Amino acid sequence: MIAVVFGPPGSGKGTQASRVAVRLGIPHVAAGDMLRNEVERGTDLGREAKPIMDSGGLVPDDLVVRMIDARLNQPDAGKGVLLDGFPRTVPQAVTLDRMLSARGDYVAEVISLEVPDDELKTRILKRATIEGRSDDTLEGLANRLVVYHQDTWPVLDYYRSHGTRIESIDGVGDIDAITDRIIESLRHNGAVVGSA
Ligand code: ADP
Repeated sequence: MIAVVFGPPGSGKGTQASRVAVRLGIPHVAAGDMLRNEVERGTDLGREAKPIMDSGGLVPDDLVVRMIDARLNQPDAGKGVLLDGFPRTVPQAVTLDRMLSARGDYVAEVISLEVPDDELKTRILKRATIEGRSDDTLEGLANRLVVYHQDTWPVLDYYRSHGTRIESIDGVGDIDAITDRIIESLRHNGAVVGSA
């Protein structure tokens, strides 16, 4: 199954996607983690992405698409993936559809985590003191929220207009309960869920 975990910065996408991927036994493909890994390794992509990520902007679509396409070509992606942080723009969603249909596949479900902006700010500023991510600053966050509302939110309309199943999940509350809600929705949609 190919599913997308969608939500604003600080919504808990990464936390939830990694837990759900384990339960489904499929890889968690997190665009932000992959980009941070490129930055750490000092690759050409990483060098190009770093200043953009630090300012809270979006890395150009073609670079991110190439990175994800290569990931989907890995053998472990054959039984499905849980995408996190991709697609983040409508052109990325269009390209993803094209990449998947070339493989005889499609996005089975979009999980949309909903968290109010005020709560996002509180969470990210708290995370900043713990993880020290270079984009978790007040300014970086403000930009990421603007970009989210402007460029990423329309991705949901794209999926809606294509008849893709979208499940809105309340992202505020107990972490385990949120994971269970996501699993339940995917299970209804035919996902095979293990007990891990
Ligand atoms: P968050 O959801 O908290 O913003 P992520 O780890 O998902 O964190 O993303 C961090 C940054 O990586 C983004 O602000 C952006 O600069 C870059 N990024 C991640 N995914 C994408 C994408 N699909 N397209 C463009 N840039 C991306």
